[in-house]
Amino acid sequence: MRILLVEDDALLGDALQAGLREAGFAVEWLEDGSAADVALRGEEFKAVVLDLGLPRLTGLELLQRLRGRGDRTPVVVLTARDAVEDRVKGLDGGADDYVVKPIAIAELAARLRAVVRRSQGAAAGLLQVGHVVVDPAARTATFRGRPVELQPREFALLHELLLNAGRVLTRSQLESRLYEWDSGLDSNAIEVHVHHLRRKLEPGVIRTVRGVGYMVPRTGGERERR
Ligand code: CA
Repeated sequence: MRILLVEDDALLGDALQAGLREAGFAVEWLEDGSAADVALRGEEFKAVVLDLGLPRLTGLELLQRLRGRGDRTPVVVLTARDAVEDRVKGLDGGADDYVVKPIAIAELAARLRAVVRRSQGAAAGLLQVGHVVVDPAARTATFRGRPVELQPREFALLHELLLNAGRVLTRSQLESRLYEWDSGLDSNAIEVHVHHLRRKLEPGVIRTVRGVGYMVPRTGGERERR
């Protein structure tokens, strides 16, 4: 899933981007609040990791603008250990969670998964649609109870389709939700991944809606599981 990281400290930003990528996120990194504001107005992100002390527009101002226009994208703020007041302002300002510096990547990744899950209305860790079960934390999937070996991009695509079961997603929606701006994506990348997923699962799991996009049909048996 694609997230936006807003952090003006170059060393920390670089480390967070690398660590979160390692944890399976596609991470766009911006270094000032105003650029992040522009990006958030124009594009969809699954979540935002937001430093509060930012040039041009502070994290709190950015948050205020975001919530002020009704954008409910989950936000995790980064705060200093002793800055209780910042955490309170962040949460009161519409942040969903916070992580205290120095940041443990594993904790930040888990908090991101949790806020995204809650924003999708699901509290449980595993997501099941029909015979497919994915574990977003472990980035593993099973089909009819058997493990399925997936490449990271195949997993990301399957996860996104399951989160939107019953809804058609266009190719450009999938590209913008899954991949980073400069990922040098082939124009047929989504088709190729869908093709591989169908081979690894069953052809009928992902439906092509001609001229529109792809969807995983709801089966009536979906549930969130622990
Ligand atoms: Ca800062």
